[in-house]
Formats: sequence, structure tokens, C-alpha cells
Amino acid sequence: MTIDDAPRDALRGGPRELLRWVASGAAVSRADLARLSGLSPSTVSQRVEALISQGLLEEAGAGRSRGGRRPRQLAVPTGGAVVGAIDLGAHHARVGTLDLSGRVVRARTLPVRIEDGPEEVLGALLAEVSALVAAHTGPDREAVDGAPAVAALRGIGIGIPGPVQHATGRIVSPSRMPGWNGFDVTAFCGQRVEVPVIVDNDANLMALGAHRTAHPDLDHAVYIKAGTGIGSGVISDGRLHRGAQGSAGDISHCRVVADPAPPCSCGNAGCLEAVASGAALVTALRDQGVPVADLTGVIRLIDDGDRHATALARQAGRAIGEILAVVVNFFNPQVVAIGGRLADCEPLLASMRATLYERCLPLATQTLLIERVTAGQDVGITGAAHLVIDHVVATS
Ligand SMILES: [Zn+2]
Repeated sequence: MTIDDAPRDALRGGPRELLRWVASGAAVSRADLARLSGLSPSTVSQRVEALISQGLLEEAGAGRSRGGRRPRQLAVPTGGAVVGAIDLGAHHARVGTLDLSGRVVRARTLPVRIEDGPEEVLGALLAEVSALVAAHTGPDREAVDGAPAVAALRGIGIGIPGPVQHATGRIVSPSRMPGWNGFDVTAFCGQRVEVPVIVDNDANLMALGAHRTAHPDLDHAVYIKAGTGIGSGVISDGRLHRGAQGSAGDISHCRVVADPAPPCSCGNAGCLEAVASGAALVTALRDQGVPVADLTGVIRLIDDGDRHATALARQAGRAIGEILAVVVNFFNPQVVAIGGRLADCEPLLASMRATLYERCLPLATQTLLIERVTAGQDVGITGAAHLVIDHVVATS
């Protein structure tokens, strides 16, 4: 069973939600879980026992009594199992191990040359996950009766900066990943590790990580990832909405008003990605004769108030706002959040916000939260970890 096949009650008082309440500290006992979920004590007990037998929950001594026998306290195990997470970007990858509540145990950033191809890049990143797991388990837990240190690893979640067919884990026509088209990430990784590997695009992982961290209580949310590329992830009814193939939320080739309309890598012109992505800003500045090495250089120019760079950032913000207005009118989310390296760019954010208010129905924006993703550089690996944790809970 995949996470998409998980019964709907998996969200309402289902094992995943029970686990999340304990992980967040909202519940420390079976009684708390019964109160929060509205389920009967016997159903809660059954689900808790199942989670304990899977090693996802543990009993941690006695809690405070409200008269009668002191209840046993529940906790998410911190010492044992971890999940691995890889958030691959155009030039860097964030790699980490996280515990089963989604907290980062260890993480580091590695430089990546995406053009080296999938075997080399993914091989190196998987080796890094193994090294982090080994560091976590320590030498005394290593090679006990021949079991390798990676025995503590429950699964690996991987975010890819391009379209991923969800059912197969295959990359389909990515814009800036030469040599990766059609590559089966799940199969490749499955030959190298013996745990489940779940692959998704980076915007979906950012959406999941940001939603679980900042707004787990809100059911409908849209997250824009604006970095070298541009994409979005959609949370609908509290869960990641992927659509039929996994391309839901991919706004990169939606057409925006731009004169002249810059050509896009997809063969069309005037796509959002060709106007508003970090890569597009680098190209546009160079075309205007401004020597700029990369996105970091562009952001520096904007921070310094350079007029060319600032005008382009405003244009990018308007373009994102135009597409987002359609999304907001259509989908009516409670929160729209922007993350990625361009999210800190004030002129972009201001014009995105203004366009959104101008183009949306009052009813859609009345209580709409428009904000930055605040979860920081670990948001992607946090999303990747939750993908795996949800999968482990749903399939065990
Ligand atoms: Zn395009």
C-alpha cells in the first residue's frame, strides 16, 4: 500500500495523526489521544499498541494521575530509528537523518554538480546518508551480530528539482537536469539500500515540511518554491495533493504577461519559469549587460538596491502573483506561503502580494494568510522525512 492508498481516516484520528499529536506534545497519554480524536478508548488503545509494536511509539514511565492508576506516558522514540532525507538542488544538496517525529538529528549541505548525472550524484548522496546513520548509531551499535549500522534506517525520502512521476519515482523532462530525463530514481536507490525509497519533487517536499511545521492545523494551503526554478506544492484536506501523475502544482510553464516574452526551455515563450525563476533573473540581467555570476549575485544586487535587478524582481513578483491569483481563486486556500531563495527578496514579495490582492475575489483573500516559509534550510528534508514516516505508518 502506498501513502496515497491510505484510508481517509488515516488523517482523522488515524495512526498518523495519533503519532503526530504525541510528537508535537499535544498528547502524552492514551486518554489525551481519545479526547483529541473523539475515538473510543479501546480504539485508541488498539492503534497505540500497533504503533508501539512497530517501534514508532514507546511508553516512557508514568504520567500525572487524575485519581486512580497513573497513566503510562507515551513518547516518540528518540534513540533508535531514523529516516534519511535528501533535498537535491541545482548546486547543493541538503542531506540529513531525522527521528520518527520529523526532528532533524544530523544534517549537512553538500555541493552538487547536477550535470554529473544521476548515478554519480545519487550514489554520493546515498553514501552520505549511510555515513550520517552510522554516526547516529555509533560504533557500539555497529556490526552487532553482523548487522550493519544502517539497520536503524527506516526509509529514505528524496526531493528532486524537476517533475517526478509519483507512482514510479521516474523523472520526466526536467528543465535543468541534463542526463536525468526518464531516470528511475526509486529503482536505482532500491538496488543500493534495503529500505523504502520515496521520491517526489522538491516543491512538494517543501510544502509538506512547511505545512507540518507551521500549519498542521490548516487543511488547505499552497506553497510556492522560488529558487533557481519555480514550482508549487498543494495541501488539500490536510494532505499533499499530487493529482493523477504527480504533476499537480507544477506552475513553471503557465503563461504570464511579459513583453517581450522570453523563450523557455520547454519550447514555448513567456512561461512563469522563463520570467520569474532565479535562472531567468540571471539571464535577464546578463542580457542587460549586468555581469552576474549566479542567483546569489542577483540577490546581492537586489539587496543593494540595483535598479535593473530590483525592476526584474518586481516583474517576477507580479508574474508569480498573476498565476497565484488564479490558483487562489480556484482553490481557496487558507494560507499561501513562499519559500526558496527568492522568498527573502522584498520587492518580489511586495509585488506578488499586491497582485494577489488586486486579482483575487474578496471572499478568497478575506482571511487568507500570505507569508514566507519560515522553516529554514531543513524544510525540504523535513518534508522528505514526513513522506517516509507517513509511508512507514501507513504500511505497517
Ligand atoms: Zn516553459
